Amino acid sequence: MTETGGLLELGAAGDPEAKGPPAADQEQGTDSGQPAYLVLARKYRPSTFEDLLGQEVLVRTLTNAFEQGRIAHAFLFVGVRGVGKTTTARIIARGLNCLSSDNPTVRPCGECASCTEALAERHLDILEIDGASHTGVDDVRELTDAAHYRPTTGRYKVYIVDEVHMLSQQAFNALLKTLEEPPAHVVFIFCTTEVRRVPVTVLSRCQRFDLLRVPQGLLVEHFRRIVELEAARIDDEALRLIARAADGSVRDGLSILDQAISHQGGVIEAPATRDMLGFADRTQVFDLFERIMAGEAAAALEQLTSLYAAGAEPRVVLEDMLGLTHWLSRICVAPESAEAPEVPEHERTRGRELAEQLSVPVLARTWQMILRALEEAGSAPDSRSAIEMAVIRLCFVADLPDPGALVRRLGTEGAATEADPAPAAAQQPAPSPGGQGRAVAAMPGGSQAVAEPASARPGAPPPAAGAPPRAGGGGGVGGNKKKRPPRR
Ligand SMILES: [Zn+2]
Repeated sequence: MTETGGLLELGAAGDPEAKGPPAADQEQGTDSGQPAYLVLARKYRPSTFEDLLGQEVLVRTLTNAFEQGRIAHAFLFVGVRGVGKTTTARIIARGLNCLSSDNPTVRPCGECASCTEALAERHLDILEIDGASHTGVDDVRELTDAAHYRPTTGRYKVYIVDEVHMLSQQAFNALLKTLEEPPAHVVFIFCTTEVRRVPVTVLSRCQRFDLLRVPQGLLVEHFRRIVELEAARIDDEALRLIARAADGSVRDGLSILDQAISHQGGVIEAPATRDMLGFADRTQVFDLFERIMAGEAAAALEQLTSLYAAGAEPRVVLEDMLGLTHWLSRICVAPESAEAPEVPEHERTRGRELAEQLSVPVLARTWQMILRALEEAGSAPDSRSAIEMAVIRLCFVADLPDPGALVRRLGTEGAATEADPAPAAAQQPAPSPGGQGRAVAAMPGGSQAVAEPASARPGAPPPAAGAPPRAGGGGGVGGNKKKRPPRR
């Protein structure tokens, strides 16, 4: 017992997935007799691989390995936060020690003495260490010394080290020796969000599994089930909003769901959820995007104002437009992208319609400009005005021909210019039907001169701060004209 004393302390402190007090997990009553409130992420933490969301490959591989008795002595679970690394580690730890079967299993019964102890986080042979708070060499030495003693009650001594990349270099070195020749009764399970910070020497001694972000469609279904179990109600749009905000992390999504349930009193609706998340209304984002693409600056600004009025964060509006640009580009090159199940039907229809009218070069240019606007929004004293400037700029280049069309046009116009190489032709921008073609002429790549058109236009607002003046704006046009591709 003495050997585990210090480690037990570590174990008690090391529950990084659960930010709350340790007692909250044990479903014990509080002093007032009320059952302790359990956040959804912990209440619905998967206790078997069947419940683990979206990690089929990992589950299959581990199941096969366990069935064949090929159990590694060190596992490494890599993945973004909240995808189930620690959860998987705990299931394995329970499975290794479960008394319901003669051999380690991937299906711990959850009922035997070992499983019960483990579920209550009291198992003497399953030790969780938080790499973030136990980074030192002494912590690891204590661990490796104890590792040589046989397990107290179970088959295996399991060390779960969360955020293992936080260990210091010396700590890793101290660990290495044990990792090279681990006692037969020891299994290490490391979890990390930043695998690049784990030394290669450690990586090479672990069986590595990458946990994937959980797809939105799966999250939606999962959250829907949980809302039902919680006897709350939620509309489809709100579910989608939460799944989108979760960004592939079950835990993040459940935290948002928790918040939504307590904010909205059991009936979760899209508008309130959107407010809570600072999200822009999708329909309005589509409207805004359409106005911009039509070059209607005044209408676009009005739309923007109405989005703000509805509580959307300026940055989020831009991020949404960025997402929309990306999605439309995908539809342009792969029309089946529009069919993703997590996209509501009305958005799919609208997306397809929009994509038909737009070309990839135009969308690529829009993407660049929005990305730039996001940067500017971060550095400008007033992010809202920075975003308005970006919208104005976008409107002014939206109806410009894309570089490909321009090259073709220059090709046809070139015939006339070559016949009459007046100096003015080299200085003056090429005339275009919209009268704005000159701005794009200088950007064969399509992405470089995105900020120019507004400044090149007389009477148009100057580019926002941070947009470097591009050399050879007007002159480049002449230069480009000289180097124009041969006529087709
Ligand atoms: Zn069991």
